[in-house]
Amino acid sequence: MEFIAETVCRVCGLDVGEVRFDEAGCSLHVVCDCCGTESGYGDERVNQVRHLRRSWLDRGAQWHRPKSRPLTWDLQQQLAGIPPQWL
Ligand SMILES: [Zn+2]
Repeated sequence: MEFIAETVCRVCGLDVGEVRFDEAGCSLHVVCDCCGTESGYGDERVNQVRHLRRSWLDRGAQWHRPKSRPLTWDLQQQLAGIPPQWL
């Protein structure tokens, strides 16, 4: 399996172009502005990712850094960007 650098948050789908996991699959410990998940902490397996996503959605999909939230933010559109292997 060939790895590519991941910029999309596995939990919420936010993609601001920042690398969260590099080509070797190593976490760069990026804290997501949207869901607050730190890459490499509890998001390495799909069942963990689903659990984190569920609890984030259950809390109302609040932004970890509200100032980063775009005015035209669309939750469903962002969730649609989550790579299929993390759904
Ligand atoms: Zn996120």
